[in-house]
Amino acid sequence: MTTIDSVTARAYRIPTPAPESDGTLDWDATTIVVVHVRAGDVTGVGWTYADTAAADVVTGVLAPAIQDREVLDVPERWTAMQHRIRNLGRPGIVSCALSAVDIALWDAAARTAGLPVSRLLGRARTEVALYGSGGFTSQSRRQLETQLDTWVHRQGIPRVKIKIGEAWGTEPERDLARVRAARAVIGRDAELYVDANGGYSVGQARRIARRLEDCDVRWFEEPVSSDDLAGLAELRAVTTVDIAAGEYGYDLPYFARLVPAVDCVQVDVTRCGGYTEWRRIAAVAAAANREVSAHCAPNLSAHVAAATPNFRHLEWFADHDRIESRFFDGALDPAGGRVAPDPAVPGHGLTLRPDIERFAVG
Ligand SMILES: [Mg+2]
Repeated sequence: MTTIDSVTARAYRIPTPAPESDGTLDWDATTIVVVHVRAGDVTGVGWTYADTAAADVVTGVLAPAIQDREVLDVPERWTAMQHRIRNLGRPGIVSCALSAVDIALWDAAARTAGLPVSRLLGRARTEVALYGSGGFTSQSRRQLETQLDTWVHRQGIPRVKIKIGEAWGTEPERDLARVRAARAVIGRDAELYVDANGGYSVGQARRIARRLEDCDVRWFEEPVSSDDLAGLAELRAVTTVDIAAGEYGYDLPYFARLVPAVDCVQVDVTRCGGYTEWRRIAAVAAAANREVSAHCAPNLSAHVAAATPNFRHLEWFADHDRIESRFFDGALDPAGGRVAPDPAVPGHGLTLRPDIERFAVG
């Protein structure tokens, strides 16, 4: 029996190269909260892209629920943490903290067992398809074209996504011009996806969807708010473009409500409750004949994606790729449009580099 010796959390705020925007948010930095779980000879690591407050939830609320307990029994530890947060509420910061600890626990358990996370969970495939994700509304036309050209023509990634819904849906003609520019750069064979981040009304999104079909767009993400399940379902019924949402899903009951309203369910492993809850969400989706797609945190998502039978693809989000490839040893290379977790490396194989310390906050 190997017990959990310590649980630590630390937040880092990493500036973006320039201010960035999507349809409904502007940002100039990304905050990552990294959790380490030490158990005997191994250290597991997990993280979430969330406010620094998540670190306090980890150390003050969740750590006491798992300290000195068996590391291999991750679902039991997850349930103990779930009981501890009753009076705080699950969605938001709390679920992000829970997710980071759960991922660190699975990593520690897999390292203890001498297995990759994907094999401890049980592999459904050896390779995971991915798509390049960026195309921020803040980019110049040249920046957009360079990013898409790099993904498709230099790195061989055959699927890409750009942001639309600029300025809360008030620039629809510029949105559509950028979609046409994207199609011109990537050619006819690559798949083109768009994400409005909830920027449109239902009527607007219906009219936009018709014009997206003309550019052979295959994926329309959050055309309206992901809280508007009736709106998502209505759009799904009238367009040939797949409707997707789910990145703000923090618990299983939300996903059970969302699944019928979308063609593909997006799950963020660093928000939804970690690998433990991801697998339940994937099962709910499978029951309705839906696939799941991973939202962000690509290097963590790859391992549970490989263990998910009804998995479509992994979002290789530019902001997170930049952070994970720079500050974690063991980060995967998206070239070719697929990643394969190394079957010979225990855990998820990622370790935090010390040079991130100069970005520590809180
Ligand atoms: Mg999105």
